[in-house]
Amino acid sequence: MNFAVTSKGDAKSNQLKAVITQYLEDFQLSYNKEEPDLVISVGGDGTFLEAFHTYNHRLEETAFIGVHTGHLGFYADWVPEEVEKLVIEIAKNPFQVVEYPLLEIKIHPKSGTHIDRFLALNECSVKTPEGSVVLDLSIKGEHFERFRGDGLCISTPSGSTAYNKALGGGIIHPSLESIQITEMASINNRVFRTIGSPLILPKHHVCELKPIHDDRSFLLTIDHITKQYTNVKTIECRVADEKIRFARFRSFPFWKRVHDSFVSGER
Ligand code: NAP
Repeated sequence: MNFAVTSKGDAKSNQLKAVITQYLEDFQLSYNKEEPDLVISVGGDGTFLEAFHTYNHRLEETAFIGVHTGHLGFYADWVPEEVEKLVIEIAKNPFQVVEYPLLEIKIHPKSGTHIDRFLALNECSVKTPEGSVVLDLSIKGEHFERFRGDGLCISTPSGSTAYNKALGGGIIHPSLESIQITEMASINNRVFRTIGSPLILPKHHVCELKPIHDDRSFLLTIDHITKQYTNVKTIECRVADEKIRFARFRSFPFWKRVHDSFVSGER
């Protein structure tokens, strides 16, 4: 089996990366940065997001695992003290795979035909560097509302504990193939009206965001990556056909991770 290890870049994570690499090579596994079957991310959830974006062109071949060197993460849920046990598990046992849904984002240009397509593990957010975002939101091809405010966040179930949660969105179990739309400071008064509640869309319910002001540019975040766009006709979001595959060597249920992260940290 080929493996790769990514690191947050701090001394502790780099050292752990070296230890994991050495252990796995001692078990005759091959380090292969280009075509790994297993990627071990060492750092935090932010490091894991970077690993996902590095290898998201080969999601069918690559499984992921996260070790945290700071606090418990949602993706980085192994502690450094468990690394020896983890390495033995990787070397000796075929791993189980657990799949989580992803968000597909397509940016359709106003002029030209090139469509940018991205996958997000956590979310995509749409903001503007100047003034309010004004856009028409449609769901399954039907106009839903005209949104005015700071922006919208469209998240995956596993991203529901990240930015989405800070915006008042609900926490969604990753076995539910869905996306969630949450508002950022919508303008609501006698003239302007939005739903005000997070919306949860099932698979195949596509949502489209159509900017109203032609001249404005947009800040699009896709997980930790920010891009500036002009010339946007629509931003299309849906549950992606692709999924992220996690290598599972022990049970650590999602609701336990939610509890330990937000209610009472025991790990
Ligand atoms: P960052 O601003 O340096 O860190 C954002 C925080 O979110 C980190 O503590 C990170 O955990 C945590 N996080 C990432 N994914 C998570 C998940 N699925 N569930 C719970 N917590 C999660 O940015 P970053 O490290 O590059 O991560 C980008 C992410 O930041 C975005 O995808 C977005 O979800 C999140 N974000 C959150 C807010 C907010 O909560 N107000 C605002 C903007 C962006 P680690 O410390 O383990 O890395």
